[in-house]
Amino acid sequence: MLVQTVLGPIPASKLGVTLVHEHVMCDFIGAEQTDRHRWEVEAVVKRMLPLLKQLKERGVTGFIDCTPAYIGRDPRVLKQLAQETGLHIVTNTGYYGGADDKFVPKHAYGATPDQLADLWVAEFVHGIEDTGVKPGFIKIGIDEIKGSSDRLSPIDEKLVRASARASRRTNLSVTCHTGGGPAGLTATKIFVEERADPDRFIVAHSDGHGLPINREVAALGAWVSFDGIGRRPLESHLKLVHDMTEKNASRLLLSQDSGWYWVGQQNGGEVRNFNYLSDVFLPALHNSGISEATIRKLTVENPANAFAIRGQRYRTM
Ligand SMILES: [Zn+2]
Repeated sequence: MLVQTVLGPIPASKLGVTLVHEHVMCDFIGAEQTDRHRWEVEAVVKRMLPLLKQLKERGVTGFIDCTPAYIGRDPRVLKQLAQETGLHIVTNTGYYGGADDKFVPKHAYGATPDQLADLWVAEFVHGIEDTGVKPGFIKIGIDEIKGSSDRLSPIDEKLVRASARASRRTNLSVTCHTGGGPAGLTATKIFVEERADPDRFIVAHSDGHGLPINREVAALGAWVSFDGIGRRPLESHLKLVHDMTEKNASRLLLSQDSGWYWVGQQNGGEVRNFNYLSDVFLPALHNSGISEATIRKLTVENPANAFAIRGQRYRTM
């Protein structure tokens, strides 16, 4: 069982306390205009390095960077930060269909799901661009389901199917940004319909999806990700975790969706640090009656299981 970090594969057992959904950098200008020339690697590293060092001081050792291609994914930045901090940083392949598809590159509209999967699998096999850095998971995004239909938009459905097919070929997990609970649940069902392993599917932003949908996602065998910790009142998040851990502690992930160096703003704009979970939330969770063993499950064991690539298939790719 290996986790593919930006510095190469490590045993999943070495990942340690892990934040499963954070962002070092984002460029929101759109798929057609974003470009490496829009930021300086050194400037981003300089701004973000102290924040990542603060994590390391808190005993966090794993950092899953959820910024996809065309929104500012830059393996060069992540690699340098990993080298300078010792954090196990993981990046991704895939396309983001949230935000009304502003970040979906044009070629995706004319491609089949298999053609998109080919592109993503190629990054897994050969590395991203010319960096040699391989993705450790697939990141996609979908928009909310509009109207009374329970169907995703055609492009969003295509991204889910492509992610399922790429996951079947690589065993990579898929983190899916969701526009609300019904879309997240529908995406999970499409993933299963594609005969991909539901254990490879992570429904992001589940904090707002409500217990019935979260339980259904967990019952399907997928992961429920509460990655907005710190973005709503402490008490309400504590209750969310209590409700889920009652029956589904082995399907739950925690993170903050924090960061990020905002490309185009002066010195990256106002960056939110990554410390709330360690400094506030986990101690409060323990005080509210959640055992250390369960907290370890949520912060160490579950992330390792969610992002481990099963060895056999990994080696034969
Ligand atoms: Zn995010």
